[in-house]
Amino acid sequence: MFELTDEQHAIVDMVRSFAAESLAPQAVTRDETKHFPLDVFAAAGALGMGGIYVREDVGGSGLSRRDAVLIFEELAHGDPSIAAYMSIHNMVAWMIDTFGTDDQRRRWVPGLASMESLGSYCLTEPDAGSDAAALRTRADRDGDEYVLNGVKQFVSGAGASSVYIVMARTGDPGSGGISAIVVPAGTPGLSFGANEKKMGWNAQPTRQVILDNVRVPVGNRLGAEGDGFGIAMKGLNGGRINMGACSLGGAQWALNQAVRYLTERSAFGAPLIERQALLFELADMDTELETARTLLWRAADALDRGAPDRVRLCAMAKRVATDAGFSVANRALQLHGGYGYLADYGIEKVVRDLRVHQILEGSNEIMRLIIGRALTEQPAEPKPAPQQAGRS
Ligand SMILES: Cc1cc2nc3c(=O)[nH]c(=O)nc-3n(C[C@H](O)[C@H](O)[C@H](O)COP(=O)(O)OP(=O)(O)OC[C@H]3O[C@@H](n4cnc5c(N)ncnc54)[C@H](O)[C@@H]3O)c2cc1C
Repeated sequence: MFELTDEQHAIVDMVRSFAAESLAPQAVTRDETKHFPLDVFAAAGALGMGGIYVREDVGGSGLSRRDAVLIFEELAHGDPSIAAYMSIHNMVAWMIDTFGTDDQRRRWVPGLASMESLGSYCLTEPDAGSDAAALRTRADRDGDEYVLNGVKQFVSGAGASSVYIVMARTGDPGSGGISAIVVPAGTPGLSFGANEKKMGWNAQPTRQVILDNVRVPVGNRLGAEGDGFGIAMKGLNGGRINMGACSLGGAQWALNQAVRYLTERSAFGAPLIERQALLFELADMDTELETARTLLWRAADALDRGAPDRVRLCAMAKRVATDAGFSVANRALQLHGGYGYLADYGIEKVVRDLRVHQILEGSNEIMRLIIGRALTEQPAEPKPAPQQAGRS
Protein backbone atom coordinates (compact mmCIF):
# COMPACT_ATOMS: atom_id res chain seq x y z
CA MET A 1 0.00 0.00 0.00
CA PHE A 2 2.86 2.41 0.72
CA GLU A 3 5.09 1.67 -2.30
CA LEU A 4 4.00 3.37 -5.52
CA THR A 5 4.02 1.16 -8.59
CA ASP A 6 5.82 2.29 -11.76
CA GLU A 7 2.42 3.14 -13.22
CA GLN A 8 1.52 5.28 -10.18
CA HIS A 9 4.86 7.09 -10.40
CA ALA A 10 4.09 7.86 -14.05
CA ILE A 11 0.60 9.11 -13.14
CA VAL A 12 1.99 11.35 -10.39
CA ASP A 13 4.64 12.79 -12.76
CA MET A 14 2.02 13.50 -15.41
CA VAL A 15 -0.38 15.23 -12.97
CA ARG A 16 2.46 17.16 -11.31
CA SER A 17 3.46 18.63 -14.70
CA PHE A 18 -0.17 19.43 -15.52
CA ALA A 19 -0.67 21.17 -12.15
CA ALA A 20 2.57 23.14 -12.49
CA GLU A 21 1.93 24.23 -16.08
CA SER A 22 -1.86 24.58 -16.29
CA LEU A 23 -3.08 25.30 -12.75
CA ALA A 24 -0.44 27.01 -10.59
CA PRO A 25 0.48 30.00 -12.80
CA GLN A 26 -3.07 31.46 -12.84
CA ALA A 27 -4.27 30.26 -9.41
CA VAL A 28 -4.17 33.68 -7.71
CA THR A 29 -5.70 35.46 -10.71
CA ARG A 30 -8.49 32.89 -11.00
CA ASP A 31 -9.29 33.47 -7.33
CA GLU A 32 -9.37 37.26 -7.81
CA THR A 33 -11.46 37.17 -10.98
CA LYS A 34 -13.65 34.21 -9.94
CA HIS A 35 -12.80 32.44 -13.18
CA PHE A 36 -14.02 28.87 -13.71
CA PRO A 37 -11.57 27.60 -16.38
CA LEU A 38 -13.51 25.40 -18.82
CA ASP A 39 -10.46 25.12 -21.11
CA VAL A 40 -8.36 23.75 -18.25
CA PHE A 41 -11.05 21.17 -17.47
CA ALA A 42 -11.13 20.06 -21.12
CA ALA A 43 -7.34 19.62 -21.00
CA ALA A 44 -7.63 17.63 -17.74
CA GLY A 45 -10.35 15.50 -19.32
CA ALA A 46 -8.15 14.76 -22.32
CA LEU A 47 -5.56 13.43 -19.86
CA GLY A 48 -8.12 11.07 -18.29
CA MET A 49 -8.91 13.05 -15.15
CA GLY A 50 -12.66 13.50 -15.72
CA GLY A 51 -13.57 9.88 -15.01
CA ILE A 52 -10.64 8.64 -12.96
CA TYR A 53 -12.41 5.61 -11.44
CA VAL A 54 -15.01 5.25 -14.17
CA ARG A 55 -15.03 2.19 -16.40
CA GLU A 56 -13.12 2.40 -19.67
CA ASP A 57 -15.98 1.37 -22.02
CA VAL A 58 -17.59 4.80 -21.45
CA GLY A 59 -14.35 6.78 -21.64
CA GLY A 60 -13.18 6.47 -18.04
CA SER A 61 -9.64 5.76 -16.92
CA GLY A 62 -10.53 2.67 -14.87
CA LEU A 63 -8.10 3.59 -12.10
CA SER A 64 -8.41 2.84 -8.38
CA ARG A 65 -9.29 5.10 -5.42
CA ARG A 66 -5.71 4.70 -4.34
CA ASP A 67 -4.63 6.20 -7.68
CA ALA A 68 -7.26 8.93 -7.35
CA VAL A 69 -5.97 10.29 -4.04
CA LEU A 70 -2.50 10.57 -5.57
CA ILE A 71 -4.00 12.52 -8.48
CA PHE A 72 -6.05 14.91 -6.30
CA GLU A 73 -3.11 15.64 -4.04
CA GLU A 74 -0.98 16.59 -7.05
CA LEU A 75 -3.74 18.70 -8.64
CA ALA A 76 -4.16 20.61 -5.37
CA HIS A 77 -0.47 21.59 -5.42
CA GLY A 78 -1.46 23.72 -8.40
CA ASP A 79 -4.86 24.96 -7.18
CA PRO A 80 -6.96 23.36 -4.41
CA SER A 81 -10.13 25.04 -5.63
CA ILE A 82 -9.89 23.49 -9.09
CA ALA A 83 -8.80 20.12 -7.69
CA ALA A 84 -11.77 20.09 -5.31
CA TYR A 85 -14.28 20.85 -8.07
CA MET A 86 -12.74 18.03 -10.14
CA SER A 87 -13.33 15.72 -7.18
CA ILE A 88 -17.05 16.59 -7.15
CA HIS A 89 -17.21 16.15 -10.93
CA ASN A 90 -15.57 12.72 -10.65
CA MET A 91 -18.07 11.75 -7.95
CA VAL A 92 -20.94 12.57 -10.33
CA ALA A 93 -19.38 10.59 -13.19
CA TRP A 94 -18.79 7.61 -10.86
CA MET A 95 -22.38 7.66 -9.55
CA ILE A 96 -23.81 7.42 -13.08
CA ASP A 97 -21.25 4.82 -14.15
CA THR A 98 -21.90 2.68 -11.07
CA PHE A 99 -25.65 2.99 -10.56
CA GLY A 100 -26.82 3.92 -14.07
CA THR A 101 -28.20 1.58 -16.71
CA ASP A 102 -26.15 0.93 -19.81
CA ASP A 103 -28.21 3.54 -21.64
CA GLN A 104 -27.66 6.15 -18.90
CA ARG A 105 -23.95 5.40 -18.78
CA ARG A 106 -23.60 5.80 -22.55
CA ARG A 107 -25.67 8.98 -22.60
CA TRP A 108 -23.90 10.96 -19.90
CA VAL A 109 -20.59 9.45 -18.85
CA PRO A 110 -18.43 9.90 -22.01
CA GLY A 111 -18.97 13.70 -21.98
CA LEU A 112 -18.23 13.83 -18.25
CA ALA A 113 -15.12 11.67 -18.59
CA SER A 114 -13.71 13.99 -21.26
CA MET A 115 -14.86 17.00 -19.18
CA GLU A 116 -16.49 18.46 -22.27
CA SER A 117 -19.55 18.44 -20.03
CA LEU A 118 -19.38 19.06 -16.28
CA GLY A 119 -21.32 17.51 -13.42
CA SER A 120 -22.90 18.82 -10.20
CA TYR A 121 -24.07 16.98 -7.10
CA CYS A 122 -27.27 18.37 -5.58
CA LEU A 123 -28.01 17.09 -2.09
CA THR A 124 -27.95 20.06 0.34
CA GLU A 125 -31.00 22.28 0.77
CA PRO A 126 -31.49 25.55 2.67
CA ASP A 127 -33.08 23.60 5.58
CA ALA A 128 -31.26 20.28 5.18
CA GLY A 129 -27.45 20.23 5.31
CA SER A 130 -25.90 17.80 7.77
CA ASP A 131 -29.33 16.22 8.18
CA ALA A 132 -29.57 15.54 4.46
CA ALA A 133 -32.20 12.82 4.87
CA ALA A 134 -34.62 15.62 5.86
CA LEU A 135 -34.50 17.05 2.32
CA ARG A 136 -37.80 18.33 0.92
CA THR A 137 -37.27 18.71 -2.83
CA ARG A 138 -39.99 16.59 -4.39
CA ALA A 139 -40.06 14.46 -7.52
CA ASP A 140 -43.69 13.53 -8.15
CA ARG A 141 -44.53 10.90 -10.69
CA ASP A 142 -46.73 11.97 -13.61
CA GLY A 143 -47.01 9.14 -16.14
CA ASP A 144 -43.55 8.48 -17.56
CA GLU A 145 -42.11 11.63 -16.03
CA TYR A 146 -41.03 13.06 -12.70
CA VAL A 147 -41.98 16.63 -11.88
CA LEU A 148 -39.33 18.18 -9.61
CA ASN A 149 -39.91 21.12 -7.28
CA GLY A 150 -37.56 22.52 -4.67
CA VAL A 151 -34.31 24.37 -4.03
CA LYS A 152 -30.82 22.94 -3.66
CA GLN A 153 -28.28 25.02 -1.77
CA PHE A 154 -24.50 25.49 -2.22
CA VAL A 155 -24.22 23.50 -5.47
CA SER A 156 -20.65 23.53 -6.80
CA GLY A 157 -20.38 24.14 -10.53
CA ALA A 158 -24.06 25.10 -10.79
CA GLY A 159 -24.84 27.17 -13.85
CA ALA A 160 -21.80 25.82 -15.72
CA SER A 161 -22.57 22.10 -15.43
CA SER A 162 -24.47 20.06 -17.99
CA VAL A 163 -25.48 17.20 -15.70
CA TYR A 164 -27.12 17.63 -12.26
CA ILE A 165 -27.72 14.64 -10.01
CA VAL A 166 -30.61 15.78 -7.84
CA MET A 167 -31.53 13.88 -4.69
CA ALA A 168 -35.31 14.33 -4.38
CA ARG A 169 -38.14 12.87 -2.38
CA THR A 170 -40.23 10.33 -4.27
CA GLY A 171 -41.64 8.64 -1.17
CA ASP A 172 -42.06 8.80 2.57
CA PRO A 173 -40.07 11.07 4.93
CA GLY A 174 -36.62 9.79 5.85
CA SER A 175 -33.72 8.39 3.88
CA GLY A 176 -35.74 5.56 2.28
CA GLY A 177 -37.99 7.98 0.39
CA ILE A 178 -35.23 9.64 -1.65
CA SER A 179 -34.30 8.99 -5.29
CA ALA A 180 -31.32 10.19 -7.36
CA ILE A 181 -32.47 11.78 -10.61
CA VAL A 182 -30.37 13.22 -13.45
CA VAL A 183 -31.54 16.65 -14.59
CA PRO A 184 -29.76 17.88 -17.74
CA ALA A 185 -28.96 21.58 -18.13
CA GLY A 186 -31.47 23.40 -20.28
CA THR A 187 -34.48 21.47 -18.95
CA PRO A 188 -37.38 23.97 -18.69
CA GLY A 189 -37.96 25.10 -15.08
CA LEU A 190 -34.30 24.61 -14.06
CA SER A 191 -32.62 27.85 -12.97
CA PHE A 192 -29.79 29.03 -10.73
CA GLY A 193 -29.24 31.55 -7.96
CA ALA A 194 -26.48 34.15 -7.90
CA ASN A 195 -22.87 33.02 -7.54
CA GLU A 196 -22.32 33.07 -3.74
CA LYS A 197 -19.66 35.43 -2.37
CA LYS A 198 -17.32 33.11 -0.49
CA MET A 199 -14.21 33.08 1.70
CA GLY A 200 -12.41 30.74 -0.73
CA TRP A 201 -13.05 28.31 -3.60
CA ASN A 202 -13.53 31.41 -5.74
CA ALA A 203 -12.39 29.68 -8.93
CA GLN A 204 -15.59 27.65 -8.92
CA PRO A 205 -19.17 28.90 -8.78
CA THR A 206 -21.48 27.95 -5.89
CA ARG A 207 -25.15 28.61 -6.57
CA GLN A 208 -28.62 27.53 -5.62
CA VAL A 209 -30.26 25.12 -8.06
CA ILE A 210 -33.93 26.00 -8.37
CA LEU A 211 -36.37 23.39 -9.67
CA ASP A 212 -39.75 24.78 -10.67
CA ASN A 213 -41.95 22.10 -12.25
CA VAL A 214 -38.92 20.53 -13.94
CA ARG A 215 -40.04 17.51 -15.97
CA VAL A 216 -37.62 14.67 -16.72
CA PRO A 217 -38.31 11.11 -17.93
CA VAL A 218 -38.57 8.44 -15.23
CA GLY A 219 -35.67 6.87 -17.13
CA ASN A 220 -33.39 9.59 -15.71
CA ARG A 221 -33.56 8.01 -12.24
CA LEU A 222 -30.40 6.20 -11.07
CA GLY A 223 -31.19 2.86 -9.42
CA ALA A 224 -34.59 2.07 -7.97
CA GLU A 225 -37.01 4.50 -6.32
CA GLY A 226 -35.81 5.04 -2.75
CA ASP A 227 -32.17 4.15 -3.53
CA GLY A 228 -31.10 7.79 -3.86
CA PHE A 229 -29.83 8.44 -0.35
CA GLY A 230 -27.66 5.33 -0.39
CA ILE A 231 -26.27 6.30 -3.81
CA ALA A 232 -25.52 9.83 -2.57
CA MET A 233 -23.73 8.51 0.54
CA LYS A 234 -21.69 5.98 -1.46
CA GLY A 235 -20.57 8.81 -3.73
CA LEU A 236 -19.44 10.76 -0.67
CA ASN A 237 -17.14 8.01 0.64
CA GLY A 238 -14.82 8.59 -2.30
CA GLY A 239 -15.55 12.34 -2.28
CA ARG A 240 -14.34 12.56 1.30
CA ILE A 241 -10.96 10.98 0.72
CA ASN A 242 -10.51 13.05 -2.44
CA MET A 243 -11.26 16.20 -0.44
CA GLY A 244 -8.71 15.03 2.15
CA ALA A 245 -6.18 14.58 -0.65
CA CYS A 246 -6.91 18.10 -1.92
CA SER A 247 -6.22 19.40 1.61
CA LEU A 248 -2.91 17.54 1.74
CA GLY A 249 -1.85 18.85 -1.68
CA GLY A 250 -2.62 22.47 -0.83
CA ALA A 251 -0.94 22.19 2.57
CA GLN A 252 2.13 20.39 1.21
CA TRP A 253 2.57 23.22 -1.29
CA ALA A 254 2.26 25.78 1.54
CA LEU A 255 4.79 23.85 3.67
CA ASN A 256 7.25 23.73 0.76
CA GLN A 257 6.88 27.49 0.37
CA ALA A 258 7.51 28.00 4.10
CA VAL A 259 10.73 25.94 4.00
CA ARG A 260 11.97 27.97 1.04
CA TYR A 261 10.97 31.27 2.62
CA LEU A 262 12.64 30.59 5.96
CA THR A 263 15.80 29.49 4.15
CA GLU A 264 15.95 32.75 2.19
CA ARG A 265 14.75 35.14 4.90
CA SER A 266 17.24 36.37 7.49
CA ALA A 267 16.57 38.08 10.81
CA PHE A 268 18.76 38.71 13.84
CA GLY A 269 21.84 38.02 11.71
CA ALA A 270 21.01 34.52 10.43
CA PRO A 271 18.57 32.72 8.12
CA LEU A 272 15.33 32.06 10.01
CA ILE A 273 15.55 28.34 9.18
CA GLU A 274 18.41 28.17 11.71
CA ARG A 275 16.00 28.97 14.57
CA GLN A 276 15.26 25.61 16.12
CA ALA A 277 11.79 26.73 17.22
CA LEU A 278 10.88 27.32 13.56
CA LEU A 279 12.54 24.12 12.33
CA PHE A 280 10.58 22.16 14.94
CA GLU A 281 7.38 23.83 13.73
CA LEU A 282 8.20 22.72 10.16
CA ALA A 283 8.99 19.23 11.42
CA ASP A 284 5.61 19.01 13.17
CA MET A 285 3.81 20.26 10.06
CA ASP A 286 5.57 17.66 7.92
CA THR A 287 4.76 14.92 10.44
CA GLU A 288 1.07 15.88 10.58
CA LEU A 289 0.74 15.74 6.80
CA GLU A 290 2.52 12.39 6.59
CA THR A 291 0.31 10.98 9.37
CA ALA A 292 -2.82 12.12 7.55
CA ARG A 293 -1.52 10.79 4.22
CA THR A 294 -0.89 7.37 5.74
CA LEU A 295 -4.48 7.15 6.99
CA LEU A 296 -5.82 8.52 3.70
CA TRP A 297 -4.03 5.84 1.68
CA ARG A 298 -5.35 3.20 4.07
CA ALA A 299 -8.92 4.48 3.61
CA ALA A 300 -8.52 4.55 -0.18
CA ASP A 301 -7.25 0.97 -0.10
CA ALA A 302 -10.24 -0.05 2.06
CA LEU A 303 -12.61 1.56 -0.46
CA ASP A 304 -10.91 -0.25 -3.34
CA ARG A 305 -11.25 -3.58 -1.53
CA GLY A 306 -14.82 -2.94 -0.35
CA ALA A 307 -13.59 -3.56 3.21
CA PRO A 308 -16.33 -3.67 5.88
CA ASP A 309 -14.87 -0.65 7.73
CA ARG A 310 -14.44 1.54 4.64
CA VAL A 311 -17.08 4.14 5.62
CA ARG A 312 -15.49 4.59 9.06
CA LEU A 313 -11.98 4.83 7.59
CA CYS A 314 -13.05 7.34 4.91
CA ALA A 315 -14.69 9.48 7.61
CA MET A 316 -11.55 9.31 9.79
CA ALA A 317 -9.27 10.14 6.88
CA LYS A 318 -11.44 13.07 5.77
CA ARG A 319 -11.49 14.51 9.30
CA VAL A 320 -7.79 14.09 9.93
CA ALA A 321 -6.56 15.21 6.48
CA THR A 322 -8.80 18.29 6.23
CA ASP A 323 -7.99 19.41 9.79
CA ALA A 324 -4.24 18.81 9.25
CA GLY A 325 -4.37 20.52 5.84
CA PHE A 326 -5.97 23.69 7.17
CA SER A 327 -3.75 23.82 10.24
CA VAL A 328 -0.53 23.34 8.24
CA ALA A 329 -1.48 25.92 5.60
CA ASN A 330 -2.41 28.43 8.30
CA ARG A 331 0.92 27.88 10.09
CA ALA A 332 2.78 28.24 6.78
CA LEU A 333 1.10 31.64 6.45
CA GLN A 334 2.32 32.58 9.95
CA LEU A 335 5.89 31.57 9.02
CA HIS A 336 5.77 34.01 6.10
CA GLY A 337 5.13 36.89 8.52
CA GLY A 338 3.32 39.84 6.95
CA TYR A 339 4.07 38.57 3.45
CA GLY A 340 1.94 35.52 4.07
CA TYR A 341 -1.02 37.83 4.42
CA LEU A 342 -0.46 39.33 0.95
CA ALA A 343 -2.31 37.84 -2.00
CA ASP A 344 0.82 37.77 -4.20
CA TYR A 345 2.38 34.91 -2.23
CA GLY A 346 -0.62 32.66 -2.77
CA ILE A 347 -0.55 31.26 0.78
CA GLU A 348 -3.57 33.15 2.10
CA LYS A 349 -5.59 31.84 -0.87
CA VAL A 350 -4.70 28.26 0.00
CA VAL A 351 -5.70 28.85 3.64
CA ARG A 352 -9.06 30.26 2.49
CA ASP A 353 -9.57 27.39 0.02
CA LEU A 354 -8.81 24.64 2.53
CA ARG A 355 -11.08 26.02 5.25
CA VAL A 356 -14.25 24.77 3.57
CA HIS A 357 -12.97 21.19 3.34
CA GLN A 358 -13.65 20.95 7.09
CA ILE A 359 -17.30 21.89 6.46
CA LEU A 360 -18.49 20.11 3.32
CA GLU A 361 -18.99 16.54 2.07
CA GLY A 362 -20.14 15.97 5.66
CA SER A 363 -18.71 18.41 8.20
CA ASN A 364 -15.96 17.17 10.48
CA GLU A 365 -18.52 16.98 13.30
CA ILE A 366 -20.55 14.61 11.12
CA MET A 367 -17.37 12.57 10.50
CA ARG A 368 -17.11 12.15 14.28
CA LEU A 369 -20.75 11.09 14.34
CA ILE A 370 -20.07 8.38 11.73
CA ILE A 371 -16.97 7.16 13.58
CA GLY A 372 -18.72 7.27 16.95
CA ARG A 373 -21.70 5.33 15.63
CA ALA A 374 -19.41 2.64 14.20
CA LEU A 375 -17.76 2.41 17.59
CA THR A 376 -20.99 2.04 19.55
CA GLU A 377 -22.62 -0.29 17.03
CA GLN A 378 -19.69 -2.74 17.20
CA PRO A 379 -20.42 -5.96 19.06
CA ALA A 380 -19.13 -5.63 22.63
CA GLU A 381 -15.68 -7.09 23.29
CA PRO A 382 -15.96 -10.39 25.16
CA LYS A 383 -15.22 -9.85 28.83
CA PRO A 384 -11.81 -11.23 29.90
CA ALA A 385 -11.88 -14.51 31.76
CA PRO A 386 -11.30 -13.99 35.52
CA GLN A 387 -7.68 -15.22 35.40
CA GLN A 388 -6.87 -12.64 32.66
CA ALA A 389 -8.35 -9.65 34.46
CA GLY A 390 -5.72 -7.13 35.46
CA ARG A 391 -3.17 -8.25 32.83
CA SER A 392 -2.12 -5.53 30.41
C1 LIG B 1 -18.47 26.25 -0.85
C2 LIG B 1 -19.43 25.14 -0.60
C3 LIG B 1 -19.68 24.21 -1.60
C4 LIG B 1 -20.59 23.18 -1.41
N1 LIG B 1 -20.88 22.31 -2.43
C5 LIG B 1 -21.91 21.44 -2.31
C6 LIG B 1 -22.35 20.67 -3.44
O1 LIG B 1 -21.76 20.71 -4.53
N2 LIG B 1 -23.43 19.87 -3.28
C7 LIG B 1 -24.11 19.77 -2.10
O2 LIG B 1 -25.08 19.02 -2.04
N3 LIG B 1 -23.71 20.48 -1.00
C8 LIG B 1 -22.65 21.32 -1.09
N4 LIG B 1 -22.24 22.07 0.00
C9 LIG B 1 -23.01 21.98 1.25
C10 LIG B 1 -22.25 21.34 2.40
O3 LIG B 1 -22.12 19.98 2.19
C11 LIG B 1 -23.00 21.72 3.69
O4 LIG B 1 -22.76 23.10 3.92
C12 LIG B 1 -22.58 20.87 4.88
O5 LIG B 1 -23.02 19.55 4.71
C13 LIG B 1 -23.13 21.42 6.21
O6 LIG B 1 -24.49 21.70 6.12
P1 LIG B 1 -25.06 23.11 6.62
O7 LIG B 1 -24.24 24.16 5.98
O8 LIG B 1 -26.52 23.14 6.38
O9 LIG B 1 -24.76 23.15 8.16
P2 LIG B 1 -25.69 22.53 9.36
O10 LIG B 1 -26.07 21.14 9.01
O11 LIG B 1 -26.78 23.49 9.66
O12 LIG B 1 -24.64 22.52 10.54
C14 LIG B 1 -24.29 23.66 11.32
C15 LIG B 1 -23.21 23.24 12.31
O13 LIG B 1 -23.73 22.23 13.20
C16 LIG B 1 -22.94 21.05 13.13
N5 LIG B 1 -23.82 19.89 13.26
C17 LIG B 1 -24.94 19.60 12.55
N6 LIG B 1 -25.48 18.45 12.99
C18 LIG B 1 -24.71 18.00 14.00
C19 LIG B 1 -24.76 16.88 14.86
N7 LIG B 1 -25.73 15.97 14.78
N8 LIG B 1 -23.79 16.74 15.80
C20 LIG B 1 -22.80 17.65 15.90
N9 LIG B 1 -22.70 18.73 15.09
C21 LIG B 1 -23.64 18.91 14.17
C22 LIG B 1 -22.27 21.10 11.77
O14 LIG B 1 -21.08 20.32 11.73
C23 LIG B 1 -21.99 22.60 11.64
O15 LIG B 1 -20.84 22.91 12.34
C24 LIG B 1 -21.27 23.07 -0.17
C25 LIG B 1 -21.00 23.99 0.86
C26 LIG B 1 -20.10 25.01 0.66
C27 LIG B 1 -19.85 26.00 1.76
